[in-house]
Amino acid sequence: PDPTLRPEPLPEDEPGRALRPQALREFVGQAEARANLAVFIESARRRGEAMDHTLFHGPPGLGKTTLAQIMARELGVSFKMTSGPVLARAGDLAAILTNLEARDVLFIDEIHRMNPAVEEVLYPAMEDYELDLMIGEGPAARTVRIELQPFTLVGATTRLGLLTTPLRDRFGIPTRLHFYTIPELDLIVQRGARLMGMGADPEGTLEIARRARGTPRIAGRLLRRVADFALVEGDGRLTRAIADSALTRLGVDDLGLDGADRRYLTLIAENYGGGPVGVETLSAALSESRDAIEEVIEPYLLQQGLIARTPRGRMLASKGWRHLGLDAPAPPAQ
Ligand code: ADP
Repeated sequence: PDPTLRPEPLPEDEPGRALRPQALREFVGQAEARANLAVFIESARRRGEAMDHTLFHGPPGLGKTTLAQIMARELGVSFKMTSGPVLARAGDLAAILTNLEARDVLFIDEIHRMNPAVEEVLYPAMEDYELDLMIGEGPAARTVRIELQPFTLVGATTRLGLLTTPLRDRFGIPTRLHFYTIPELDLIVQRGARLMGMGADPEGTLEIARRARGTPRIAGRLLRRVADFALVEGDGRLTRAIADSALTRLGVDDLGLDGADRRYLTLIAENYGGGPVGVETLSAALSESRDAIEEVIEPYLLQQGLIARTPRGRMLASKGWRHLGLDAPAPPAQ
């Protein structure tokens, strides 16, 4: 599938190119999370203490990294970033922790993918700002305790259910991020067009917002692609007609679904009579990893009411059948 349409980060999303909001008041959407964070940030500032550890969970591309960076900026501290899979050994994390300055924000992306030995190091660090390090090997081995500066851990995960309970319990501020509404995405696209210096019709930005899969990262990418078409095939202005033709050529349908989403729905409809069908079966048939299906494809389809998750597997909902232009099979005779 075209990587433009997937919510995972790509090199072109790197800071500098990204249209990342820099302050909480510039951050559109997630009203509840934003209001709570504003209070916790202000309170930590007034007390002069490190803010409580914060866990962001939700599908990729919804602003977890952006919010963590904004927290550091508004707290007036440095931002350090790493990720679960990168921290191979306990020493890797220890090196980062001992270099933190007072009240710094340490962001660990994909925190559910941390090695258990590394996670062990994190517990006393989060709880008491202490590090227990093993020095030497065999009978001469001993532990030394190192005091750390108080810091704020910001964890991000697409899979809350994969976090161990002890880790989850150590976050004072668990925050769930939701898919964005179309009006919120419209504001994000309008702001992006403005920052790119591009003239845009309201119907043009709305068309991108409607088809951005509830995800700011996708909205930003679609905007950049539509801008290319507007420049080369139009007069540079973002109109509804240009947006529609560009998005259709990119394989983004009216609901914002891409080829991978439609293959998923079509498979359940045509090969499994609408389900229920297990995720492992879908994974094998689609040649997509189970993680990609559960973290990326399904959350939006569920939120849109196109599919349902049952104990026996995934089922196509009536809206899903309609979207494919197919008739749902008649229910079995009683
Ligand atoms: P995550 O860490 O959840 O995968 P990011 O924080 O990296 O998501 O955000 C993905 C992209 O979407 C970034 O380029 C960011 O600038 C943009 N973005 C996210 N949330 C917003 C928002 N509320 N307003 C504007 N842009 C946003």
